[in-house]
Amino acid sequence: MTDLAGKTALVTGASRGIGRAIAVRLAADGARVIVHYARNDELAEETVAEIERGGGRAYAVRAAFEDGVDELFAGIGDERLDIVVNNAAILGGVLGTVSEEQFDRVFAVNVRAPYFVIERALPLMNDGGRIINISSAVVRIALPDLVYSMTKGALDTLGFSLAPILGPRNITVNTVSPGVTETDMNAWLREDHDGSAERGVTEVTALGRIGRPDDIAAVVALLTRADSHWITGQVLDASGGYFLG
Ligand code: NDP
Repeated sequence: MTDLAGKTALVTGASRGIGRAIAVRLAADGARVIVHYARNDELAEETVAEIERGGGRAYAVRAAFEDGVDELFAGIGDERLDIVVNNAAILGGVLGTVSEEQFDRVFAVNVRAPYFVIERALPLMNDGGRIINISSAVVRIALPDLVYSMTKGALDTLGFSLAPILGPRNITVNTVSPGVTETDMNAWLREDHDGSAERGVTEVTALGRIGRPDDIAAVVALLTRADSHWITGQVLDASGGYFLG
């Protein structure tokens, strides 16, 4: 559990859900963690407190990505980084319900921000570092939120195309794609009083249950280990085998 001792990790969208689980896990593995979030000061402080209770070190930085990533990097300063996890994202909506402004907002948070987070992080990153982008199984499964799905497709391409550029610095770039996971993003699971929606998912999931944030954090943690140094440019499905056919 001390593989990441001496390393610093930036995790975006770490106030709750999958991002919080990743931040807590990387801290438990020894990294000092920068907990990024957009608006929920209290929840971000809860993530920091959970890390500190476990004996780890962390601090929170607030930045809404609609406004770019300057605020985030003002909070980071000249800190050296070893791991960057682009996790923050928002949903779009079904065809006919998304205005051009909303479309731009979803792309700004889900695609523009990860791109510029990486660009701004690179001069701060130590060689041999790790970039991990959180995509989604929606890239291989047709679902109605087209705008969200398109952003995740763009993220997959970003990881694939960036890997050879960063190879000379031994920085690996990989993408982790969760399936349905218990977070605020899936509020419908909490409103699923007769369990029918949950059954609809679990019946087509090889491992037979909904994902938990810790499941995704474990896969991210694998990619941060020293032994993962030969894996780059890959998309790793972390869905428990959702819709394998
Ligand atoms: P949540 O909605 O639970 O959390 C979203 C996080 O992103 C929060 O920390 C939030 O901060 C931050 N955030 C929200 N809006 C902005 C913004 N405008 N600018 C910057 N940060 C923002 O998400 P999940 O944990 O469910 O998802 C995490 C990742 O996993 C996402 O990339 C998502 O697409 C992906 N994923 C999730 C799946 C799922 O089933 N949950 C399935 C497949 C992929 P704040 O709390 O301050 O609002």
